Amino acid sequence: PNISISDMLLQTTAKYPNHEALHFYGKKTTYRELLSASQRMAAGLQAAGIGRGDRVAIMLPNCPQTMIAYFGVMLAGAVVVMTNPLYVERELEHQLKDSGAAAIVTLDLLYPRLERVRGKTPEDGPVPQLRTVIVTSIQDALPFPKNLLFPIKQRRSGNNPQVAYGKHGVMRYTSFMSKAPKLPSEVAVDPAADVALIQYTGGTTGIAKGVMLTNRNLIANARQSVAWFYRMEEGKERFLAALPLFHVFGLTVIMNLSVMIGGTIILLPRFEVGVVLETIKKLKPTLFPGAPTMYIALLNHPDVKKYDLSSVRVCVSGSSPLPLEVQTQFEALTGGKIIEGYGLTEASPVTHVNPIWTKRKIGTVGLPLPNTDAKIVDMTTGEELPQGEVGELLVRGPQVMLGYWGRPEATAATFKDGWLRTGDLAQMDSDGFFAIVDRIKDIIIAGGFNIYPREVEEVLYEHPGVRDAAVIGVKDPYRGETVKAFIVLRKDVSLSSMQLDRWCRDRLAVFKVPHLYEFRTELPMTMIGKVLRRKLQEEEANERE
Ligand code: ATP
Repeated sequence: PNISISDMLLQTTAKYPNHEALHFYGKKTTYRELLSASQRMAAGLQAAGIGRGDRVAIMLPNCPQTMIAYFGVMLAGAVVVMTNPLYVERELEHQLKDSGAAAIVTLDLLYPRLERVRGKTPEDGPVPQLRTVIVTSIQDALPFPKNLLFPIKQRRSGNNPQVAYGKHGVMRYTSFMSKAPKLPSEVAVDPAADVALIQYTGGTTGIAKGVMLTNRNLIANARQSVAWFYRMEEGKERFLAALPLFHVFGLTVIMNLSVMIGGTIILLPRFEVGVVLETIKKLKPTLFPGAPTMYIALLNHPDVKKYDLSSVRVCVSGSSPLPLEVQTQFEALTGGKIIEGYGLTEASPVTHVNPIWTKRKIGTVGLPLPNTDAKIVDMTTGEELPQGEVGELLVRGPQVMLGYWGRPEATAATFKDGWLRTGDLAQMDSDGFFAIVDRIKDIIIAGGFNIYPREVEEVLYEHPGVRDAAVIGVKDPYRGETVKAFIVLRKDVSLSSMQLDRWCRDRLAVFKVPHLYEFRTELPMTMIGKVLRRKLQEEEANERE
């Protein structure tokens, strides 16, 4: 049946009213409490003039208000625009302008940045349509600060003097909620046609585009994931939310999924290794979706062996390739399974995952989810390729977006006869498992040869002295492009480019071997731990100008 995200919350609450929906620093929120807070949020937004189709931005780290705002906006029939709290002014301005958000729910600590974007008076600034600003503080979710499982660093909050409450539509969350009617008026939404969420892409390859996802897309992807990758027990699972809920991976694979099956979400506002270990020990989550960088960070923690992590039954890794050693070490440590999947914002996001109860294939992203079609086509002709060949991955299924918000040309270019072009190169083996080769945009063409940066990076990662590596193509008058590697060494290691050159020459065809090396102390990363090759390319281009 075509249900909406709001229907899902209503149904689960009817079934498990007193079940713990979320857990935040020792504070438990039941489904009944989550629903009634979300209904108040919805009613308050409606009272502020927000209705069907209006966009509401949510710029919050993981905390109960993130979920209350998300379900509140959906119950009001409006459209959620998840906004990364790490955005700098330029990015925030782009997203608020591009989405045309009429309201925003944010944190007091982030408010000054928002105020700078709004200008002296809203009319002055670049986002005059943003009329309502609801400002919360972490403490608003914590009426019992003494019971904190982990002390939160005392930060300025509550009546933050930097926040201009009462001016230009700025309201304090607590008074907004207490003034709001208890119940919103019901809004009829069309789950298949109305946009429920505008989720901006990671911006790894260019300007962030708003992906329009419907209720149907989101529900479909949560259902496909339930069916496939967790073997979950309704009403029993406990999700560790170390991934941000404002990113589509955490949004679907944690928030929507947990609410769909009456699970409990243990919210962590940021990823801190020590806190994650303590949380697993004390709160015993059963599921821990994450990005490879998170699992790597845990494995590298000096005390990791002292913790009992055996409650974690399944980890799902996505968003960038999961190195083999990480997978084996992590499984040995927890006794649970870590399975790799693949997806993209445009597909809500999951399209592929390794099966959990039958044969998995390490180094692949597994099989397409139920109701998902996938094929590999020639990059230039678009013809379907025979099994085993490398080409662009195209997908089709109920989780695939309507299109990009306000960008009909980009939408048209991304779809081909109803299939979504992923922009990734992949290969399918004879059992139907897919392996991601690289992003098409990152392919380096040197002297007529195609080079996949990921292949070169993997060779560099195998070197025991290398902590991080990123490979890009740089302009070369003779070969068109040439390979450049950026390297972060492990602590107390010294290595020369000559030594790395020898290492690569022994393991790669000569045309793939990097010509240039640059040593750094860190690499530019997205908040979910993807190396920003684009940033390195930009820096390189600027330097060469
Ligand atoms: P933008 O589209 O704005 O450039 P982005 O591609 O980072 O940003 P996301 O939708 O967050 O936006 O990421 C999807 C991409 O992440 C995929 O297209 C793919 O390149 C990469 N990816 C996801 N999972 C995996 C995986 N398991 N292995 C390798 N790459 C992956």
